[in-house]
Order: sequence, then structure tokens, then C-alpha cells
Amino acid sequence: MTAVADLTPPRAFDVEAIRADFPLLAHPVHGKRLAYLDSGASAQKPLQVMDALRHAYEFEYANVHRGAYWLSEKATSNFEAARSAVAQFINAADDCEVIFTRGATEAINLVAQTYGRSMLREGDEIIISAAEHHSNIVPWQMLRDEKGLVLKVAPITDDGQLDMAAFEALLTERTKVVAMTHVSNVLGTVFPIAEVATKAHAVGAVLLVDGCQGVVHRAVDVQALGCDFYAFSGHKLYGPTGIGVLWGREELLDAMPPWMGGGDMISSVTFEKSEWAALPAKFEAGTPAIVQAIGLGAAIDYLQSLDLDAALAHEHALVAYATEQLADIPGLTLHGSVPGKSGIMSFSLAYAHPHDISTVLDRSGVAIRAGHHCCQPLMERCGVPSMARASFGLYTNRADIDQLVKALRTVHTLFA
Ligand code: PLP
Repeated sequence: MTAVADLTPPRAFDVEAIRADFPLLAHPVHGKRLAYLDSGASAQKPLQVMDALRHAYEFEYANVHRGAYWLSEKATSNFEAARSAVAQFINAADDCEVIFTRGATEAINLVAQTYGRSMLREGDEIIISAAEHHSNIVPWQMLRDEKGLVLKVAPITDDGQLDMAAFEALLTERTKVVAMTHVSNVLGTVFPIAEVATKAHAVGAVLLVDGCQGVVHRAVDVQALGCDFYAFSGHKLYGPTGIGVLWGREELLDAMPPWMGGGDMISSVTFEKSEWAALPAKFEAGTPAIVQAIGLGAAIDYLQSLDLDAALAHEHALVAYATEQLADIPGLTLHGSVPGKSGIMSFSLAYAHPHDISTVLDRSGVAIRAGHHCCQPLMERCGVPSMARASFGLYTNRADIDQLVKALRTVHTLFA
């Protein structure tokens, strides 16, 4: 069962106090104040997470689920407490629905290779959206090629929203899986997941949500969303790399065959045959990322100590401020402008390549992402080969935006 919610009132949202929890932000780069605007790629880590990692290695480290001695039992209970923290954070019905993976990419591949491989037949259809990250495209292409499936793409509108009428028109009784992002890592658009779930279920399809950018920008309730699978990565949620989550409905996970075989995922093994362990162990073959999971639990505890509604309001205010400031940069095109969008500002300059923009900004202490953002089909839809992207975290403040805008003026001076 999931843990009982902690009723401690959240700490009031104060961005400067939050910045103090992230020591890396105070270290200058090229002698300049750091404006870290690449949280969409990976978020910085608060001291609370680093302390938890160090504590786990220094005082409570051993392998889990196999030692009949204090240290192993302690490591196991810490590891399972992290699972409970995740379950509670996303409102899973039960801890056993939370499968630890290496990240979102592995979580999506797990569903494609187990649910997809065992449940889909030749001619069955999968629908994704035109805004997907490669990790929610390629696993489905691989499955399509292996099983003779049909992969359909639901288009997006010019302002970056799911074209709902076009999506509905793609649904048929052969649609078995809909796989869609919660929030676009390029456009910041929040996809209407609850509506997509209702429509997918009406034709008997399951809905997998790529929650990489969703879970980091808003409180997620997987039951209220109505999806069947939800995947995300710990490192974007202020936790360590090497840990991620696949949440799935218990009855679906139960019916799926395991993916990787090995220790921990079995209940018995003979040379003739093996029996699978119950959830979640069935999908966690081998020694898991023990301390990374504990670090993810610490990141979730940290997030839950904050007023997340106020954090979201702060992010929306920053998006409005950045939109207004960027509009003053000559020749700048902002990609994605749907109201309520997340703190992801992708843009192009008429006179400078994104890599040049990023290099000039770096000399001013501003860290942004430049490239195709693992969304090549979306780049094509937007008519550009690549973009520059500033993405926000809990700790982003107006000074970061001001520093970005000032550095973009330098790019204009140098290149225009
Ligand atoms: N999906 C989205 C929307 C992302 O932004 C990312 C990472 O950038 C991924 C999937 C892949 O995440 P990871 O590389 O942590 O598995």
C-alpha cells in the first residue's frame, strides 16, 4: 500500500531561498554569474538530494532484497520508501505499480517490448503525436517493423497544440496503443491527456504518457489523468541520473510478460523453467539503482516540502516575462505560444545558428540547449533544422531571463 501523506504544511515559495538549496548555481562560469537555463535537459540537484546520496553510501549501503542482516534490510527499506514516495507523488493506487527503470527512455521501451510485443498483432495501430521526443517514436517504430504494425502520427496545430479532431479521425478499432507526451520538451505545450485518455479508451486502446516534462512542471495525478502508463526520468526531477519510473495500472502490468530476465524478477528457477516474481520485482531484473532511487525519493520529499502551486504560478509569471522580453530581440521567432505552456522557451534567430547562439551565450554565463532537442520530426514541422531553447527549473528567476536577453543582444550585435 502507498504511504500515508505527510501533513506538514509546505514551505512558502521563495525563489531566492530555493536557489540557496542548489549550490552549483552560485558558481560562476567564465567568470560570469551562471544563468542555468537547461533544466529541461537535466535539472540541478538540491543539497537535500546530495545529502541523501552521501548518507546512503556512507551509513546505509548494501544490496537490497537479499541480505538477512541489518544493513541490507535498512537499504531495502530505504529503497522501498523511495518507491512509496514516488507512488504517493503521482497518486498511484499501489506502490507495486511503480517500476524503477534507468529513465523514461527505458520505461517506454519496456512497455513497447512487453505490452506491445505480447498484445499487438499484425495490422494493429499505434498513434503518437507530431511533438514526440525520439524516445517516444523510435521504440514504436522498432515494434512496428518487428510485428507489421501501423504507426500513425496525430498532427499539431501551428501554435503547437494537439489537433484533437485529426487525432480522433485516426482512432479505429485497430488502435491498440496511444503514446503521447504530457508536455512538449520543445514547445512547452501541455497536452490534454485526460481527453486523449477518454478517446483512446473508447476504442479499446491503452494510453502511455511520456511524463518527462510533465511531472517536473506540475503536480501529476495518474488516476485523475486516466492514463494507463506514465514514464519519467529522475534526473529532470532534481534527482540523480540512472533512475526513472514506469507507472502502470496493476492489472496491465500483471498481464504483461517480463522484459529482462535475471535475479530478483523470479520466484523460482529450474533449468526447465522459471516462475516470475510478483510486481514490481517482475520488471526489475538484477541489482537496481539503489542509491539513485533513494536520491529520487529525496528529490520528491524536497518537492513536496514546497508549495508546488506557488511554484507553478512563479513559472507561469516567468514565461509571461520572458515572452515579453524576447519579443524585443530583433529577428527572434518563438516556437510555441499556447496559453498555460510550461517554462520551455524555444526560439530561432534569423541571423544566427542555434549553436552559435549557445556559444556566445555561454561566454556570458548563460547555459541553454541548442540542436534538434531529440525531436527531429517536430523540427521539420516547425520548418527549422534546429532551435535554441531556454528551459526553467524551480530556481529560475528574473535575473536569469534578464541575463539571457542581454546576451541575445550581444548575439544580435555580432551576427545581424
Ligand atoms: N521525453 C521527453 C519529453 C524528454 O524531454 C526527454 C529528455 O529530454 C525524454 C523523453 C528522454 O529522457 P531520458 O533521456 O532521461 O530517458
